[in-house]
Amino acid sequence: MTQIELKVFLCNIIMIKKIEHLGIAVKNIEASTKMYETLLGKPAYKSEKVESEGVNTLFFELGESKIELLEATNTDSPIAKFIEKKGEGIHHIAYDVDNIEAEIKRLQEEGFELIHQKPKDGADQKKIAFLHPKSTGGVLVELCQDR
Ligand code: ZN
Repeated sequence: MTQIELKVFLCNIIMIKKIEHLGIAVKNIEASTKMYETLLGKPAYKSEKVESEGVNTLFFELGESKIELLEATNTDSPIAKFIEKKGEGIHHIAYDVDNIEAEIKRLQEEGFELIHQKPKDGADQKKIAFLHPKSTGGVLVELCQDR
């Protein structure tokens, strides 16, 4: 196997698989839920409070991906700070990975700045880690793996 073949082989094992969800910061999750139900023509399938992140979340399924609405539960929440600075809108892109530890290691070696060096528990039965937007062209990136 050549170096390139080996790289392609390894990438196929551990690479980022798909967009798992888009995270959207909202001021009022009830109002936004109604709007998204009308927009997407279907109800949300799950809501969940993530105490550690200070957020209420709500998920819509959309083919292979999801839309995650995020509302702050307190003023220290990253979502409260995001809305204060930028207003409501797209907050992060979450990529689905098979092995989050391996991806964290690979991306660190490639020079990306990780907000979380180790995965933590997120909403929707996921292990998650965020990459700093400084190293990803201004986009907050979440890696997630099924727990
Ligand atoms: Zn997310």
